[in-house]
Amino acid sequence: MYLSLTNVIFLVGSIGLLVIIILYSVIILKSGRIKQAESAIERLQDSLEQMDGQAKLIVRTDLELNKIQEELDKKISGLYALQKLFRAFASTLDEKEIFNKIKPEHIESLGMQRAFGFIWDNKEKGFLNYLCIGYSHEEIENIGKELNSNQSLYLKLLKERRTVSSLGSQSKVITAKVIENLFKVKVFYLSPILHQEGEYGLFCTGTLSEEATTTEGDAEIFEILSGSIGQALENARLFEATWRAQQESEVKVEQRTKELTEVVQELKNVSKRKSEFVSAVSHELRTPLTSIKGYASILLSERLGDVPEPIKIRLEKINRHSNELVQMVNDLLDISRIESGKVMMKKQFCGLKGLLDDILDLLSLQIKAKNINISQDIQNDLKVFVDKSQIERVFLNLIANAIKFTPEEGTIAVNANLTENYFIQVNISDTGIGIPKEAQKAIFEEFYRIDNPVNEQVKGTGLGLSLVKNIIEAHRGSIWVESQPPKGSTFSFLLPTQATPETPVASTQTGEGK
Ligand code: ADP
Repeated sequence: MYLSLTNVIFLVGSIGLLVIIILYSVIILKSGRIKQAESAIERLQDSLEQMDGQAKLIVRTDLELNKIQEELDKKISGLYALQKLFRAFASTLDEKEIFNKIKPEHIESLGMQRAFGFIWDNKEKGFLNYLCIGYSHEEIENIGKELNSNQSLYLKLLKERRTVSSLGSQSKVITAKVIENLFKVKVFYLSPILHQEGEYGLFCTGTLSEEATTTEGDAEIFEILSGSIGQALENARLFEATWRAQQESEVKVEQRTKELTEVVQELKNVSKRKSEFVSAVSHELRTPLTSIKGYASILLSERLGDVPEPIKIRLEKINRHSNELVQMVNDLLDISRIESGKVMMKKQFCGLKGLLDDILDLLSLQIKAKNINISQDIQNDLKVFVDKSQIERVFLNLIANAIKFTPEEGTIAVNANLTENYFIQVNISDTGIGIPKEAQKAIFEEFYRIDNPVNEQVKGTGLGLSLVKNIIEAHRGSIWVESQPPKGSTFSFLLPTQATPETPVASTQTGEGK
């Protein structure tokens, strides 16, 4: 079985055709895949490009964020420096000290190297340099000279009341270049130092190079700083004004006290001279009065012969009036002697109730005559440390007055209580005519008598209460009156219960003074 050539050729041809068909199919298949791969590659490239764009964006954003972070850090450290400065300003009330509180490190933390502060002195009519950081002596001198030789220009700049900066806001009166040259700075902020009603001066901060780390936004920080300097200056000036006013008023008070002391001394001298005069006159009066009284008595006794009735009546009058005059002279003498401390109070412990009973006994006739009801509330064991005979005069005068000024059937009440500071307060109340408010102090003065119907009828000298007051004050007590005319009056006074009472009380009080 041999294959013919034709068959062989046919077979080979068929196989070749088959191979070609297979190859073609493979090629067709591959080219489809290639296309697919190509479009996948294109998509991949697109994505890569997108990713690249996003990566670049991320890097850019990161850079910006870093920058913002840096600026924020700077602002925070600036604010921190400001806070420290505010605290430092609050710790002083001395104008120059306020500027001394600003240190180079504060200025550095605000991104600056130089600072210059100057104040307008209205008295001296000149700019005074209060602060310079980062300047040589020569530079400071030159700036001072320029400021004062061009005062009107810088005063105008001050009057603008706003922050001027090399980075932004400009002045209308002066260029940024002039300011840069004056303060020898590249980047600067120049802020006014203000107070409520005006301007104090200017505060300039600046850098030495143009590569400043500050931005326009920092203007706010410098404004706040100069604002707080203004506030601190205002506080200092207010404090000084208050302190000066206080000093002045202290000097005035001292002067016034000195004047008053002199017046008091003069009054004491006058009072002493008056006492001496009264004492001398009383003495002089007493001798002739005693003779008059003596002669009247001799004549009345008819030892020298009969005295006709009309002369007798007149002699009796002379005798009575002489007695009254002697009594008045004696009272006056006593007042002036007690006032000048010449009368020694012979103090001893004595029961208050017994003392009052004796006086009521002495006045029993007058009490009965007016049918006056007496009520007393004094504990048996209450004792006072007083000169008995003098205090008897006090009770006698006050109760006799109460009887005199109380109508018939009236009531007189006496009570006494121990006070906190070793004194006993005695109150003598009556239902009499009362004492008007305006007279309540004056009745304790010598010869003062109120114009009233009782006084028109009953004789009196107006010396009784003055004597009473002097006696009580000689015991370191005090006396006052409360009264509601026409309902009655209450005289109150304090007497010591021991040798050295704690609180000396030595002034006459009225009801309102209590
Ligand atoms: P005199 O009684 O001699 O006038 P005083 O010094 O004792 O002098 O009293 C002064 C004045 O005070 C009296 O004239 C009287 O007007 C007034 N006075 C004193 N005690 C009373 C009283 N208890 N009620 C009303 N007035 C009084």
